[in-house]
Amino acid sequence: ATLYTSTRTAGLTDDLTASIHYGEVSQMITRFVQEHTYKLLETVVENLARMLLLTLPSLQKVTLKIEKPWAPVGLPLKTVSVEITREWHTAYIALGSNLGDKQKYLDDAVQGLADTEDCIVEQVSDYLVTEPYGGVEQDVFLNGALKLRTLLTPEELLDRLHELEQAAHRERIVHWGPRTLDLDILLYDQMIIDTPVLHVPHIDMENRDFVLIPLTELAPYYRHPVLNKTISQLLKELLEGEIGFFIVAAGGHHFGQRDGHGVVCLSLIHI
Ligand code: AMP
Repeated sequence: ATLYTSTRTAGLTDDLTASIHYGEVSQMITRFVQEHTYKLLETVVENLARMLLLTLPSLQKVTLKIEKPWAPVGLPLKTVSVEITREWHTAYIALGSNLGDKQKYLDDAVQGLADTEDCIVEQVSDYLVTEPYGGVEQDVFLNGALKLRTLLTPEELLDRLHELEQAAHRERIVHWGPRTLDLDILLYDQMIIDTPVLHVPHIDMENRDFVLIPLTELAPYYRHPVLNKTISQLLKELLEGEIGFFIVAAGGHHFGQRDGHGVVCLSLIHI
């Protein structure tokens, strides 16, 4: 086992409680392997890594290698082995609702993620009321964002978000139409993913003030890995663009509609 943790504080203070006690970890590993029986080496290391990461608060990452002697393959192999590395990831999730008890749908989603064993909700933004996006006539939205520490892969996290959406009785009727709960992965570490079912960073997030405002509250200096700009830079550019648009195209009307959540007013001072 190779354990990744910061040893700086322990190194400066000579205090073992500021580090990870490798004697205790050795005992934990021994006990775990004695108490669990699996068919596959893969399953042993997967579960062992998870147990260590969930049990040791200062463990950021672990590499585990398990070797099996005398594998029965009819060839003179001394050992076969499986080695994996697992670690905590940081993800930012967008929350939205515009049907029913919106605040309760968002609160339940936060609680649902907090109750997910491989997830720790570290911070939740304020919720804000926003105008619908995408041209469909519908009620205003309640939006927010949260910061998550997770052991789940991006695909597993997306599955979990879908389960929570289902639990909120979400029905996909109209694209960009009303929904009880919408959960999106905005960012996952500095990862860039483009598969048919998953785009990370979330597509078009730089054009959505209802995403960037709560995200700026949580992670103003987080750098968008594709656009190479911080979240607060993206928000500033978007608001400057919006202001120009509203002044030219909409006049006072939109200011009246939108100043309920203070966004445009804030930027007006800026101009
Ligand atoms: P929506 O109706 O806007 O919630 O879109 C949902 C679909 O978008 C999901 O079924 C996902 O397959 C896909 N999708 C692509 N990228 C993401 C992402 N970063 N977070 C959530 N859903 C995503």
